[in-house]
Amino acid sequence: MPLIEFRSKGLYCPPGDFYIDPWRKVDYAVVTHAHADHARWGMKHYLAHHLSGSVLRLRLGQDISLQTVEYGEVIARNGVKISLHPAGHIIGSAQVRVEYRGEVWVISGDYKTGPDDTTTPFEPISCHHFITESTFGLPVYRWAPQNQIFEDINRWWQQNAEEGRVSLLLGYSLGKAQRLLTGVNADIGRIFTHGAVENTNLALRADGFGKLPQTEQITRDSDKSQFPGSLVVAPPSAAGSSWVKQFRPFEVGIASGWMSLRGPRRRRNVDRGFALSDHADWIGLLEAIEGTGAEHIYVTHGYTDVFAQYLNEKGYNASVVRTEYEGELAEIGEGTVKGEESA
Ligand SMILES: [Zn+2]
Ligand SMILES: [Zn+2]
Repeated sequence: MPLIEFRSKGLYCPPGDFYIDPWRKVDYAVVTHAHADHARWGMKHYLAHHLSGSVLRLRLGQDISLQTVEYGEVIARNGVKISLHPAGHIIGSAQVRVEYRGEVWVISGDYKTGPDDTTTPFEPISCHHFITESTFGLPVYRWAPQNQIFEDINRWWQQNAEEGRVSLLLGYSLGKAQRLLTGVNADIGRIFTHGAVENTNLALRADGFGKLPQTEQITRDSDKSQFPGSLVVAPPSAAGSSWVKQFRPFEVGIASGWMSLRGPRRRRNVDRGFALSDHADWIGLLEAIEGTGAEHIYVTHGYTDVFAQYLNEKGYNASVVRTEYEGELAEIGEGTVKGEESA
């Protein structure tokens, strides 16, 4: 019997009797991170990293049964050892290591190998079986250095500020928004936030996350004379809403890995796209997989077929696993018309 089975409710460990990021209701869910396609409502019990705690409660309910742990802390269930390890994707994101009778599986969740000042860097964990995402698993995806992207964002903001415009910068309310807030040059002007972003900030601060700059939530009482020249960080779903009218004149920028391609940028009708992703690019995926030393690779959300085929040609034993994770399209609100929280 394999240590991890691919079932209709999610990834299941039979001897430990638990699921990892299940998409149907189960008794015990180990959750890699708090994005909506990985952390779903209705589980009897959750296990996650400390820095996911308050955000999970914010999103799933204050009364959920939740145990939080540090990276590397071992939890045993029926003789199966479970531990969480940094995935570098967003604040509190983890890979799940599962060990039983000498066999080790690692479930990556979403991950990135590049720098991000808000996360603990991705850590390669040696294992026999590695379950990887493949959101950007094509050779065309290569990220520019993070500091170069932030220079672009700062230059855009500065220019808008000089011309009296608001810079409305869109990014998923958990992860991308905090990375943007931490990475921009706060000397350029005031920084305002949408309520969805500020609620997430509050939850993260409650868990001891101390890297965010000072932010002011936009409310009905906000002094609109303070808006010109400021930066407003909001989720992608805010873009088409009447909420943005109060910022006129403004420009809209969006931060997402998909902005490295022309099509998505045009479709979203934004002024500027910044190719800043919280997922590994092509090189990052290959390096991460090599770093595990695993022979058996299982490929989930993204370019699964192409990526698995490439790995097989490279000599790995790779296969595609069907899951209900949605990837970054959902995270930027493009994969769905319902907006970001529907992912
Ligand atoms: Zn994610
Ligand atoms: Zn995902």
